[in-house]
Amino acid sequence: MSSFRSRLWNRLDKTCRFLPIVVNTVLVLSITAEVSYLVVVEAPREPEQQKSESSAVWKSVHLFCQYFMLGNITWNASLFLKTSPSIRGVFLGGDAVGQGWRYCYTCETHTPPRCSHCYDCNVCVLRRDHHCVFFGQCVGFRNYRYFLSCLLFMWAGLLYAVVMNAEVFIVILKEGVTLHSVLLLIMPWIMLISGQVTARAFAFAFIADTCVVGFLLVAAFLFFHIGLMLRGQTTREWYSNRRPYSLSPLGNVRECLGQRWYLCWLCPLISSPLPGDGIHFRVTGSLEPAGSTVKL
Ligand SMILES: [Zn+2]
Ligand SMILES: [Zn+2]
Repeated sequence: MSSFRSRLWNRLDKTCRFLPIVVNTVLVLSITAEVSYLVVVEAPREPEQQKSESSAVWKSVHLFCQYFMLGNITWNASLFLKTSPSIRGVFLGGDAVGQGWRYCYTCETHTPPRCSHCYDCNVCVLRRDHHCVFFGQCVGFRNYRYFLSCLLFMWAGLLYAVVMNAEVFIVILKEGVTLHSVLLLIMPWIMLISGQVTARAFAFAFIADTCVVGFLLVAAFLFFHIGLMLRGQTTREWYSNRRPYSLSPLGNVRECLGQRWYLCWLCPLISSPLPGDGIHFRVTGSLEPAGSTVKL
């Protein structure tokens, strides 16, 4: 009985880990399909404009931009998942244990500075930033570049989708600020279940809402991480108010994105070797939290 329960629990645990990835993938593909539909079918509305050459060029440019962003999101996301940031298979330097090194009792090894154990991944992660629940993997030294590029293109794609969906909001609000229009904007599910709107109207309202909420969330994450990158901090160091490994802003960017930091975000194929090894870091500030005083 207990083995059945543990098997059931394990299966549930695995499903829950993959669920955010599946939901995100469905949302990204649905938003892309909806925006493509708006570009190809809905706009421009006048029939004579639809036939014109400039309209075909305009649509091609829009579709190219959309699929360039979608390609970058999926490619960076898959490289992020493929690139393990953990200490598995990494030679940590044997006896070269120095300042900032700790012993991990779960992994049974000494681990370098900025490395910490993740209880979700069940392993120590080099320059661990945080465990990303949306991807089900840790963000660390080796995959930070892909995480940031993915966030950047998600932000750009959602900004584009919000602008393209402005017409959906205008159509909904054309009838004025009524209970019907407000509920359709805020709770489209309720309107669909109660039979107040068609499935088509629901789909447009739901995706338009998702774009706005997703854009705000991704923008907050992206700018927070750009700030951390410029400051040379991980999320854990930011929480504990420490910046012991910060270089110049440019040095910090190079440490996260690699030698070709100015180009590599454009396409994950562009090689950009990281200057460090994720094990040794130059200490430039106090290892103690800022403002803390040592009591004797
Ligand atoms: Zn560990
Ligand atoms: Zn993790």
